[in-house]
Amino acid sequence: MDHALFNHIAAEYGTPLYVYDSRIIARQYRRLTQAFSGTDARFFYACKALSNISILRILKELGAGLDTVSIGEVQLGLHAGFEPQNIIFTPNCVSLEEILEARELGVNLNIDNLSILEQLGHRLGSSASVCVRINPHIMAGGNYKISTGHIDSKFGISIHQMRHLERIVKSTGIHIKGIHMHTGSEILDTSVFLQSVDILYDVAAHFPGLEFIDLGSGFKVPYKPGDEGTPIEELGQQLSASFNTFRTEYGNPHMQIWFEPGKFLVSESGYLLVSTNVIKHTTATVFAGVNSGFNHLIRPMLYDAYHRIENISNPLGAERLYTVVGNICETDTFAWDRKISEIREKDILCFHNAGAYGFEMSSNYNSREKPAEVLIGDDAPRLIRKRQHWKDLLRDQVQE
Ligand SMILES: *Cc1c(COP(=O)(O)O)cnc(C)c1O
Repeated sequence: MDHALFNHIAAEYGTPLYVYDSRIIARQYRRLTQAFSGTDARFFYACKALSNISILRILKELGAGLDTVSIGEVQLGLHAGFEPQNIIFTPNCVSLEEILEARELGVNLNIDNLSILEQLGHRLGSSASVCVRINPHIMAGGNYKISTGHIDSKFGISIHQMRHLERIVKSTGIHIKGIHMHTGSEILDTSVFLQSVDILYDVAAHFPGLEFIDLGSGFKVPYKPGDEGTPIEELGQQLSASFNTFRTEYGNPHMQIWFEPGKFLVSESGYLLVSTNVIKHTTATVFAGVNSGFNHLIRPMLYDAYHRIENISNPLGAERLYTVVGNICETDTFAWDRKISEIREKDILCFHNAGAYGFEMSSNYNSREKPAEVLIGDDAPRLIRKRQHWKDLLRDQVQE
């Protein structure tokens, strides 16, 4: 990264600050489209990772569709200029009313339970054409397993309920235009993924007239130095070949394969810049206390996630061990005993891989303002969200 540029941006816009590089988003999108150029693949950006309207517009310009999980995300997508047919609505446990609202807006519906499917079918009959989310009960990431016993995920229609699903389709006339699966796992082993896709191909045989299958996401990016990401080029080649064979046998050579990557597209594009408030030595530990916390980046506390931290004020300093903590009044640790080049008070630290589920999961806990967001890339740095002011905390409150 360009340390001088990031130091300049921190000085100009203040910290804490999220910075996104549009060139990295474009690079990741290109990697996906190239990896799957051997078939008819479409990529719907899962905007729950980062929903700033400027980011949505970048992805729209690149040619992506949008994957949404709430009516709010659907509205943001339409506002950003996505055509309704390029948006898929993949919610979980939302009301029939919310699904009908999305239908009114013309977006693709992905239904994840039999109860709502049946109600939709009775109400709309053959005028409705939807995708259904199947839960194949697969645990990717080392072990491949179909659990026939207990079913512990709230997502999707169980693979063991295909008969019931077919009955609803027959009795109501609702049309199934797509089948979907999102295991949510971080895929490293392409063979595991290919095996699970085979299960979806079997499901497809029950539904004539499919226009696409949607494999959700599960693409991993490296977080730690030395970490591996999903070998996307290899996966793309293998999966394209398997899909092309499947759709020929199925009888629709124009069937599309859809994906919903979030993290893969935006994680590496994002940085969180914070300033060091205090260096605190205890008998056992050296703490670097910064002007941010889990209110701005919750992944370390919520998922034990690793984010690389770089001291961009002193990148060549001697490395020492620091426990980097936030300013929230409860345990608020970003990293334990991490080797970082010597940190002095007021030094700017940069968290890497902060594009996905960073700002998006931020809150006003401890009555602290949310950070500003800046976009860099081919043009000069540009503010794409203002820093909050404490008065924003009063905005929706009703006062006497
Ligand atoms: C969250 C989500 C995604 C994106 O997952 P990533 O790990 O960010 O790629 C895709 N599809 C659905 C339905 C999701 O809920």
